[in-house]
Amino acid sequence: MSGIKSFNGGIHPAYNKDLTSGSETVLMPAPERLVVPVGQHIGAPANPVVKKGDIVKLGQMIAEPGGFVSSPVHSPVSGKVISVQPEEHPMGSRIMAITIENDGEDTMVEHQTISEPLEKDPDELKEIVKNSGIVGMGGATFPSHVKLSPPADKPIDFIILNGAECEPYLTADHRLMLENPESIVSGLEIISHITGVKKLYIGIEINKPDAIKKITKALGKKGTVVPLAVKYPQGAEKQLIKAVTGREVPPKHLPMEVGAIVFNVATAHAINKAVTEGIPLFERIVTVTGHGVQKPGNFLVRTGTMVSEVVDFSGGYTDDAAQLILGGPMMGKSSATDGVPVIKGTGGILVLPSAEMLTDAWGPCIRCGMCLRACPNQQNPQLLGNLIEKGLFDKITEDKLEEIVLDDCFECGSCTFVCPANRPIVQFFHMAKAYFRAQKRK
Ligand code: SF4
Ligand code: SF4
Repeated sequence: MSGIKSFNGGIHPAYNKDLTSGSETVLMPAPERLVVPVGQHIGAPANPVVKKGDIVKLGQMIAEPGGFVSSPVHSPVSGKVISVQPEEHPMGSRIMAITIENDGEDTMVEHQTISEPLEKDPDELKEIVKNSGIVGMGGATFPSHVKLSPPADKPIDFIILNGAECEPYLTADHRLMLENPESIVSGLEIISHITGVKKLYIGIEINKPDAIKKITKALGKKGTVVPLAVKYPQGAEKQLIKAVTGREVPPKHLPMEVGAIVFNVATAHAINKAVTEGIPLFERIVTVTGHGVQKPGNFLVRTGTMVSEVVDFSGGYTDDAAQLILGGPMMGKSSATDGVPVIKGTGGILVLPSAEMLTDAWGPCIRCGMCLRACPNQQNPQLLGNLIEKGLFDKITEDKLEEIVLDDCFECGSCTFVCPANRPIVQFFHMAKAYFRAQKRK
C-alpha cells in the first residue's frame, strides 16, 4: 500500500487491542484516599510544599519542581493531607509521596482559563505548561516545558504528534483520538505557537482508521496526518521521525538534532486542557486489559489511585490471573504488587493469566541473527547480550560499548521477542545499565 510510512527493523507482535479498542472511556470516581508520589517524571523529583494536616484543593500544587528538568505535582482531589512520607512507587522503590484523604467535594483551586491561546504571548503559555506539571504521557514522562525550549542553535522544522500507539494491548491514545480530536489539535496549535514551528504532523498506525478519520477532520489544513505501518516500535521517537520526515537521528543524539520535536497525542491534549481550561495534569486515561481481568476497558483515573482499585473498578481479576504488568507487554514493567499508585506515565494495566505467562527457560545463543534484524536501532543485541551474560562488564567499558548500551538501546524488547533461544536480551541490557549507573555513582 503506497503512502504508508515506516522504519527499518521492528517486529509484528500480536496486538490484542480488540479487547478494549471499542470501549469508550469511563470516568472512574476518585477513591477515598490517594497516594501521590513526588516523582512522576524524568528528572529531579518534586519537593513537597504541603505537610500533614494541610487542607488542599483539587489542582493545587502540592510539590514544586526540584530543578529545570523536573515538574510540579498537583492534588488530584480536594481534601486533607494525611502523610508526607516514602511509599511504594510503581518503579519498584519507595519514594516520597503525599497521601490525601478525599473529601469528595472536588473543590477546585482558583485557576485561569484562556479562550484565545493563539493571541497570547508564547512564553506565557510555556509557563502555564510548566506550572501545570505536563510531562510526556506516552510513558517517557519527560517534562514538556523542556521540550518546548530547544536551544537557539537547534532550529526546529517539524512538530510531530505520536498517535502510533504501537505497544500491544494499549488503546488509551486510540480512544483519546476518537473522543477528543479537537483538543489534541488545539494542543498541537498551542505547541506550534510556543515554538514558532509551522510544519505539523500527526502519525497514526493504519490499524486505527477511525482515529485517522477523526483526527484528519479535526486537523483540517493546519497539518498533515501521516498513516504509519503497523509495526513495533513505530511510536519510538527516532523511528517515528524517520517514518514521518525521512530524517535519521544519529546515535547518541536527540530528535532536535534533525529539527524535530515529538509529543504524544495525550500530552497535546493535556497541554490544551492546562492552557484553555486551567486544569493541571492530575488524571489520565488508563487501559486496563488482558485475559486476567474481568472487564477490560479504558478508564479516566486520578493520579494517586491504587492499581488494585483500578482493577477492582474494571470488575476484578479472573481466577487464573497470574502476572501484573504496568504498561504494555513490550516496554511495561512487571509488578509484584498492585499496591502502587497510578502516575502520570501509567498508560496501561495489563494482567495476564497463567497460560499466557512467558515461563520457558532460555538457552545459549545459536547465532541466528534474528535479533540484529529486529533491532530498530541497528544495534548488535547478540554480541552485547552475550558479553553481558558472561559478566564482561569491564571489557564493555573498555571498548566504550557501554555508551551504546546505555544511550541507544531504549529497551524496546524487539530482540528478546524474536530470539528463538528465549534469551532475555533486553533484561541483560537493563541489568548492564543499572551496573554502569552504580559504577558512575561510585
Ligand atoms: S531492546 Fe535495545 S538492542 Fe534490543 S531491539 Fe530494542 S533497541 Fe535494539
Ligand atoms: S536472536 Fe537470540 S539466538 Fe539469535 S543471534 Fe540473537 S541472541 Fe542469538
